[in-house]
Amino acid sequence: MNICGYSPESINEGEGLRAAIFISGCKHYCPGCFSPKTWNFEYGEPFTLARQREIIRDIAGNPLLDGLTILGGDPFFSAREVSGFIDLLHLEAGPVPVWIYSGYTYEELSAASDSDEYALLGRCDVLVDGRYVEALRDPSLLYRGSSNQRLIDIKQSLEHGEAILWQSVFTK
Ligand code: SF4
Repeated sequence: MNICGYSPESINEGEGLRAAIFISGCKHYCPGCFSPKTWNFEYGEPFTLARQREIIRDIAGNPLLDGLTILGGDPFFSAREVSGFIDLLHLEAGPVPVWIYSGYTYEELSAASDSDEYALLGRCDVLVDGRYVEALRDPSLLYRGSSNQRLIDIKQSLEHGEAILWQSVFTK
């Protein structure tokens, strides 16, 4: 698996201050995609164990962070590897909240409970879901590009068996 970007601190990829990792590779091919070069699974740098540990050290050593966001590309095309990284992160840095982006919908990702995609979903806290739809583009939306995309509270959704929208701690 390759990564094509890493920000140790970002305010654009989810609520609060977050580290962000961009996973290479996507097969959704949405027209108007913000970064078609990320479709290529070979793009970027190999996500070696040494690089994973370096990023985990960054995250563990930054008390200002609210969590990590994983996006792409689409991380769910590399679901097993991304799950392995999250396990290592939680082992070495404790319970870091994870947001994750996907072109798949929550319903697609949660359809089969024995799938790698479902296992990755269960390791994360908030899912930003759905393909980017150019006709529904809305620059005023928080953390997403088109109005079909949703911010989903994964733990609540898995518990209740349906997609439940995430609520910001600032608007509750
Ligand atoms: S899911 Fe995201 S990365 Fe993939 S084609 Fe659509 S907008 Fe681009």
